[in-house]
Amino acid sequence: MFNSQSAIDIMIRDSYWLDQEYQPTSPLDGEFDVDIVISGAGITGLSEALFLAEAGVRVAVLERREVASGASGRNGGFMLSGTHEYYADAVEELTTAYGPGGRRHAREVWQLAIENHRLMVGLMQRYRIACDYCNHGSYVVAMARPDRGSHPRPMERVAQSARLLQEDGFDSELLDAKTMQGLLRSTAVSGALFNRFDGELHPVKYVRGLAQAARGRGVAIFENTPIQDVMRDGRGLLIRTPGGRVRAEWMVMGTNAYTPQLDMSYETRITPNRGQAFVTEPVAERLFNGVFYANDGWDYWRQLHDGPGDGGRLLFGGSRNHHLAAERGSHVLHQRGRIIKTYRGYKERPTGMVQRSNDLAFNRTFPHLAHLKRTHRWGGVMGFSFDSSPFVGETETPGVYVIAGFTGRGNAYATAAARILADRILERPSELESRFPSIRTVFAASRAPCVKTPARRTS
Ligand SMILES: Cc1cc2nc3c(=O)[nH]c(=O)nc-3n(C[C@H](O)[C@H](O)[C@H](O)COP(=O)(O)OP(=O)(O)OC[C@H]3O[C@@H](n4cnc5c(N)ncnc54)[C@H](O)[C@@H]3O)c2cc1C
Repeated sequence: MFNSQSAIDIMIRDSYWLDQEYQPTSPLDGEFDVDIVISGAGITGLSEALFLAEAGVRVAVLERREVASGASGRNGGFMLSGTHEYYADAVEELTTAYGPGGRRHAREVWQLAIENHRLMVGLMQRYRIACDYCNHGSYVVAMARPDRGSHPRPMERVAQSARLLQEDGFDSELLDAKTMQGLLRSTAVSGALFNRFDGELHPVKYVRGLAQAARGRGVAIFENTPIQDVMRDGRGLLIRTPGGRVRAEWMVMGTNAYTPQLDMSYETRITPNRGQAFVTEPVAERLFNGVFYANDGWDYWRQLHDGPGDGGRLLFGGSRNHHLAAERGSHVLHQRGRIIKTYRGYKERPTGMVQRSNDLAFNRTFPHLAHLKRTHRWGGVMGFSFDSSPFVGETETPGVYVIAGFTGRGNAYATAAARILADRILERPSELESRFPSIRTVFAASRAPCVKTPARRTS
C-alpha cells in the first residue's frame, strides 16, 4: 500500500517547487552601505525589502543560500485566513492570555490574514508575478476518525468555529459529511468549515517574482551570503559576512525559524519544527478544488493546477504528530555566553519515518489514489512561536527589527507584517494598524513566555 524506504530513497529529495532552473546572484564581496539590511530572502525578507524600496529606502538583502531556499520554497502554497488553530480555540486562548478582548483580538488576527491575501494579490498584479494563484477557498476538515494529537470531536470544533466566524462577519460555511464525502470521494471525512476567501499559489514562483520586483526597485540581493555577526558601529550597525561587510542604520530579521541563531533572545520564543510533504505524479482529471487542512492541521492536501489539462499533481503533507520528538527542534543551550549544545531541528532532509506516515495518511484518506507514484518528497523548517502568533516589531536591540515565528502560516501573515513594519520604520501612518490595533499586542516583538501568557498548543 505504501512506498518502502528503498523506494523513498530514490525519490527526489527536494521541494517540487524548487525543481526548476535558477541562477543565483553573486555573494557579497567587499563593503556596502545601505539604509536597511534584511536577513533572509524568503517571503518575509523580500516583501519587507520591496515595501521599503518602494518608499525610496536603500535596501540590501543577505541570504545564506538562495532566494526561497528556506520554508518559503518548501510549503504547501496555502493562503489561509487565521493562525493554525480552530477559530473557537483562538478565541478561548486569546481570552485566557489577554482577558475579555480575546474575541476582538481573534477577529482582528483573522481579518489581518484576509488583508494579507489582498496585499499579495496586489503585488502579483503590480509586478506581474505569475504564480499559479487561484482562490477556490479552504476547508478545515473534520476527519471521521481523528488522528493522534488532534481534537477527539473535530466536528464540534468546526461547527463552533463556523458559528463564531459567521457572527464575526466572515464568509464561512459549515459543510456536512455528505457534502464533503461527495466532494473528496472519501468516507474518511465527516464535515468541514469552508472559508470562501482563501487561496493557493506556487510559492517559489511568487517569492522569485518578489525578488525580481525588489531588484527592479533597486534592492541589492546577495545570495550565498550568510550573516556571521551583527555589531554596533557608531549609531548604526555593521553586518559581517564571509566575503564582506555591510553598514546599515537598521536591520530587519526575516529569518523565521533561524532567528534564534542571529538573536539569542528568541531562543525561548521560536522553536524550529520540520514539516514534510510530497507530490504525486500528475493526474489528468480535476479531482477537487481548494485547499484542505485536516486533523487540526497536522495533515493538509490540495490538487495543484499544473496539468495536464485541467488536472494536476496531488500535494500531501503532515504526520508530524506521529514523530514529534524527531520533528521538533531543541534549543541552543548557552553557558556564560558559550554555546554548549546546538540546535537539532534545522534539517530539511525528508525522513522515511514521516514520509511513510504521510503515505499511510494519504492512502487512508484516498484509497482509490493510493497507487499514484510520489515524485518529490521534501522537508522544510518552520519557526513556531510559543503562543502561535508571529513576532513583529523592534527587538530589545535598538535598530534591529524582527518578523518571525509564523507557526506554519507565513503565507497568511508575512506580507501584512512586512507592510506594518515598513510603516513603523518609515514613521508613516499604518492603515493596517489603525484598522487592527490588536496586532500591536498579539504580535508584539517583546512578548516572551511567562506565567501570564499560557502556552498555546502548536500543531
Ligand atoms: C512543509 C511545509 C508546509 C508549509 N505549508 C504552509 C502553507 O501551506 N501555508 C503557509 O502559510 N505556510 C506554510 N508553511 C510555513 C511557511 O513556509 C513559512 O511560515 C514561511 O515560508 C516563512 O517565511 P520566511 O521568509 O519568514 O522564512 P524562510 O522562508 O524560512 O526564509 C528565511 C531565510 O533566512 C535565511 N537565513 C537563515 N539564517 C541566515 C543568516 N545567518 N544569514 C542570511 N540568511 C539566513 C534562510 O536561508 C532562509 O532562506 C509551511 C512550511 C513547511 C516546511
